[in-house]
Amino acid sequence: MKLKAKLALITGGTRGIGKEIAMALAKEGVNIAITYNSNDSLAYEVVEEIKNNNVKAMAIKANVSNGEEVNNMIKVIEDELGSIDILVNNAGITKDNLLIRMSQEDWETVLDVNLKGVFLCTKAVARSMMKKRYGKIINISSIVGITGNGGQGNYSASKAGVIGFTKSIAKELGPRGIRVNAIAPGFIQTDMTDKLKEEVKDQMLKNIPLGIFGIPKDIANLVVFLSSENSDYITGEVIKVDGGMAI
Ligand code: NAP
Repeated sequence: MKLKAKLALITGGTRGIGKEIAMALAKEGVNIAITYNSNDSLAYEVVEEIKNNNVKAMAIKANVSNGEEVNNMIKVIEDELGSIDILVNNAGITKDNLLIRMSQEDWETVLDVNLKGVFLCTKAVARSMMKKRYGKIINISSIVGITGNGGQGNYSASKAGVIGFTKSIAKELGPRGIRVNAIAPGFIQTDMTDKLKEEVKDQMLKNIPLGIFGIPKDIANLVVFLSSENSDYITGEVIKVDGGMAI
């Protein structure tokens, strides 16, 4: 797939979907930088696992919603591993509640991480991608950014924002050879969805035509494709990976 020796940055790469994306790209020979927010020892373990694929790898602790931390993180990665070819904006959080119970703080925290974080990381890598007239940016949105979901006003708004941002930046950066796409996962089995109540999960399963939940590999497979030259004529797209949940 000619991905060998490219450099990918995956935000939130220590667990769940982000970790699977890092492993899948590493298997294709891509050098990997992952970021995380809290768990240092886990990040160290994941870096060692990635390196087993004979690629370079590093982890940096940085809160994607903090502009200064993001800019420092990009500088450290560029100094250590070179310029970034593939950015996967994956870091994301939920703080679910019904509108009348949702605090302003929970609204702001989710929008800050899930939407402002995507803006800050994309802006921080855009200049060097523009210079070399090449880049792949893949934003992890969600089907609830398309359909909406009761109890997730903050999360759905952030993920819908990611879709609008993806399309706008694809238009801006297309002339510079940079492809920008979004993936909208349905229900994927990770720590994020493990915390949902069993009855909520049962209800969701009834709405999935394929009758099964997704796994992180389902998203990672698509990221590998969108990172490769096989998808070079695709930009500004939002691709659902949801077992048919949002048909
Ligand atoms: P997860 O298992 O909860 O992992 C989230 C990752 O993001 C962790 O590595 C975490 O790092 C990192 N992170 C959280 N806040 C951060 C911050 N402020 N700065 C930097 N990193 C931060 O989540 P997941 O289920 O894999 O989800 C990954 C992405 O897919 C998210 O954007 C999510 O919204 C999206 N998505 C997931 C599903 C699903 O069903 N799972 C569905 C649709 C969309 P620490 O461990 O250090 O905190």
